[in-house]
Amino acid sequence: MTQRPAGFTLSDNTVSEYETDVKQLVQALSPLIRKSPKQIESLLSYSPRNNDTHTAANAPILLVHGFFGEGQDYYWWNGMKHHHNVIVSDIGPISSQHDRVCELFYQMVGGTVDYGEEHSQKCGHARYGRTFETPAYAEWSSENPVHTVGYSFGGNTARALQQYLHEQRFPGYDTAADWIFSLTAIAAPLNGSSIVHDLAGLSTSESNSFRALAPGKLLERAFRLYDWMDISLLRNNFYNPYFAHFGKTGRTEADTWSEWLSMLVASVWNTPMENSYDHGLYDMAPGKCSRMNDKMVDAFDCTYYFSFTKTLTKESSWNGIHMPTTATLLSPVGAFLGMHNYDAKSLQTMYPRLDVSTEEKVSAINNGLRRNDCVVPTVLQSHPGLCFTHADQSVEASNYLNGLVGGHEDGTAKCACEHKATLQEHGDDLQTGKWYVTDYNNMDHGTLVMTVFDLSIQKEFFKSLYFKLRTLPMASEDKL
Ligand SMILES: [Zn+2]
Ligand SMILES: [Zn+2]
Repeated sequence: MTQRPAGFTLSDNTVSEYETDVKQLVQALSPLIRKSPKQIESLLSYSPRNNDTHTAANAPILLVHGFFGEGQDYYWWNGMKHHHNVIVSDIGPISSQHDRVCELFYQMVGGTVDYGEEHSQKCGHARYGRTFETPAYAEWSSENPVHTVGYSFGGNTARALQQYLHEQRFPGYDTAADWIFSLTAIAAPLNGSSIVHDLAGLSTSESNSFRALAPGKLLERAFRLYDWMDISLLRNNFYNPYFAHFGKTGRTEADTWSEWLSMLVASVWNTPMENSYDHGLYDMAPGKCSRMNDKMVDAFDCTYYFSFTKTLTKESSWNGIHMPTTATLLSPVGAFLGMHNYDAKSLQTMYPRLDVSTEEKVSAINNGLRRNDCVVPTVLQSHPGLCFTHADQSVEASNYLNGLVGGHEDGTAKCACEHKATLQEHGDDLQTGKWYVTDYNNMDHGTLVMTVFDLSIQKEFFKSLYFKLRTLPMASEDKL
């Protein structure tokens, strides 16, 4: 999908030096313990590190997939390697943030998914969903936390999961925010994505209605049609939309021809999921995301936060529009987002906190929103609360735009972050309760995850990320 980005080099030599040392050690050990170097490597990388008392090194990595995503190898590739315990999410690909969070929690602890009485009644679906016979991490607790790594909408899901743990929203479980040791968001629409309006046809007026024939909406309908077709071979081995809590949907579940027909209509049109707005597409609308973010803690004091923004476009010097720097499958969308203009009213609906009081401000905001990775404007990816800071933009321009975002209730600015070009540039003296933003250029939304074209850069990324996560100090060590 993408070519190797020219600007991306892994500056952390520590990882490769460490690996060279391990390789030499393995070679030397091989004749002594009568195992092949490959067998020893396998033992070293996959055996649980029970004697390792360092929490960060011992904590499993929980990978949370994005919208339309799923939990198979071909989605994460290298993300599933390079750590001794990687758990892959198995949750609704187009489901709402709430439903995905509930599914993820019960996948981890085991048992039947409980979507909550109030939520299920409001949204017209069953209260209970799938049963996870085997917990993915039965020990999960404050003492045995996890590193969560969320790609795209998975970053939002991971944040919401932590908020629910903090609020103890799962009946019978004494949860806390510190069940999550670190949270990493990769190209996540942490403040939504305007693409929900541009391509999925959500109106920017108050009505909140979707255009029935918008390309993004048609794609979603095609997905529902796939579900209605109910081909078990595909469902069991390739892709399961996990709509069952909304009642009968698949063609094979119909008892009569009329039910068959009505289920077909309900699968592609007027679905209960759509009518209740209980779906992921709506939860990625910037306005909805902003309302959800307002009820969430931006960064808990017990957790390390990393985000990786991706950008494929660059501002053209003569007309202010942003064009993709590389031709990829997604770059036509990048060009579209790179030249888009919103009026003040639309901006206000999408970003209620933005100051759009003058033409000059509206024009500057539009300019700031155009940098994108072909799916999510970069501004929306950094951390909760819009962040216009970017290495490619002057400090004055960033400060001016960040001043229009609005701050915390106590008057402090939401954005106090320093962005770096690599993870290593943030250094080793990291603190909890603070977002560390790394901006990658020349990458579209599909680079690093979901790609089959550039696995070497993906490998470098996950190896260096996991190394960083394993060596994070305990939050309490920080304060000593
Ligand atoms: Zn729901
Ligand atoms: Zn920021």
